[in-house]
Amino acid sequence: MAEHYDVAIIGAGMSGLSAGIRAAHFGKKAIILEQHNAPGGLNSFYAKEGRKYDVGLHAMTNFVPASERRAIFNKLLRQLRIDRAELDLIEQKSSRVAFPGVNLRFGNDEGLLESEVEAAFPGQVDGFRKLSETIRDFPDRDLEQPYQSARSWIKQFISDPLLEEMIFCPLMYYGSAVENDMDVGQFVIMFRSIFHEGLARPAEGIRLLIRVVLDRYRKLGGIRKMKTGVKRLIEEGGRISRIELDNGEEITADVILSCAGLPETYSLVDPSIIADQSKDAGKLAFSETIAVYETLPETWGWGDDTIVFFNDSDRFVYEAPEEQIDLRSGVICLPNNFEFGDRPLKEGLVRVTCLANHDAWCGFSEERYQAAKEEWFGRIQNSILPMMPKPTRDHSGELVATDMFTPKTIKRFTRRARGAIYGSPRKVKDGRTDWDNLFLCGADQGYLGIVGSMLSGVVIANQYVLKG
Ligand SMILES: Cc1cc2nc3c(=O)[nH]c(=O)nc-3n(C[C@H](O)[C@H](O)[C@H](O)COP(=O)(O)OP(=O)(O)OC[C@H]3O[C@@H](n4cnc5c(N)ncnc54)[C@H](O)[C@@H]3O)c2cc1C
Repeated sequence: MAEHYDVAIIGAGMSGLSAGIRAAHFGKKAIILEQHNAPGGLNSFYAKEGRKYDVGLHAMTNFVPASERRAIFNKLLRQLRIDRAELDLIEQKSSRVAFPGVNLRFGNDEGLLESEVEAAFPGQVDGFRKLSETIRDFPDRDLEQPYQSARSWIKQFISDPLLEEMIFCPLMYYGSAVENDMDVGQFVIMFRSIFHEGLARPAEGIRLLIRVVLDRYRKLGGIRKMKTGVKRLIEEGGRISRIELDNGEEITADVILSCAGLPETYSLVDPSIIADQSKDAGKLAFSETIAVYETLPETWGWGDDTIVFFNDSDRFVYEAPEEQIDLRSGVICLPNNFEFGDRPLKEGLVRVTCLANHDAWCGFSEERYQAAKEEWFGRIQNSILPMMPKPTRDHSGELVATDMFTPKTIKRFTRRARGAIYGSPRKVKDGRTDWDNLFLCGADQGYLGIVGSMLSGVVIANQYVLKG
């Protein structure tokens, strides 16, 4: 007979693990089914040639001091019964939005950005303050409203198109599944998460967060099956009656939470839906390069910036590029430039994320794919130089390792349609699907990023597993 669970969760990413903790904490018999052999989903880690690499961590958003008990991040940790000290969080130094001839620096003290706007755009600062205050007071219930264009909404506060582009650049890169625009609710969430609150990282990297979350789930008696993909969700009478696994086994569950994504989940119920070709498939995919140096970036004059969101002209284009990679904009992350104090990372790291075209990368033969990765790696490294201070010395000889991933890699390891990190542009905020006991959680429920996906897991589990 098929084993029965109170709740089955598809995906051991941050949303699935968080949902699992809530369910298990309240005594539910929970199982997490994960197709990959490593937990974390888009936030994961791997080893290559003896080195450990993080995936999906530039920084955790929503950083606030522990004393701010009503802040989202602290509430989330309380819901998960995670002791904040376990995460060993260290703050960013400061970050920057870099456009030609203008820089806006921001940090975990939100006053820094306001003073930068005042210096670079004196005529806009009153509007910027009003925007910031409106976002602070934005009612939570309005975050759940149907899609409204943030590009239109912001014009009541900001009239300088360049400042508008500079505000959107980091918020879209860290949390928009929509091309060239965002939902107002999502814009408000990202503005608060990055500009009002701030950025930090677990000192050891993403593996520390994953370890803490996994330990919590395990100690509560939660079950996790790795390398166990869900192949099909079998529907009967408007409910999912059985879950068929890739290995041919079947299980049953009262409630199913899927973190696989909207078109991906629908294609599990109806295999005639090809997730990649669905109208709900996201178009925004990223590529990332990682360069490892035997010296730290501060030794060649790159010691100040934690993250740089750059764009090479006055207009920021956030859409799937025609070519493999769009070199016009991107995100440079220098993991060494968090406040490590007297325990610095041993090697220097430079990560660069750019918009990428899924189809262009997936259309290559394996040989051509590897050659294209090599070619684009070099081009990306060169494209960031105008955005960074002129190096005080040539550090190219200190490069000891490189890696690069593309939308093809993301697709392979997470099964995300078109390798779209933020999933579908259509978000299902109440998590409901066409089947009574199947709910979405994670990226396509609408909360994005590490903290967002964990929050999504908690909210959806509270609503549909605990309240029933
Ligand atoms: C390069 C990069 C940089 C990023 N940087 C940051 C950052 O600095 N800060 C930040 O906050 N966020 C960042 N993110 C985004 C963040 O990683 C994601 O928003 C978040 O991890 C999404 O979590 P999730 O649980 O919704 O989805 P996922 O992590 O995608 O989890 C879904 C899981 O479901 C599994 N799955 C899918 N289909 C099946 C199936 N049929 N059967 C079984 N299992 C299945 C997948 O393998 C996966 O493990 C970054 C992401 C990337 C890739």
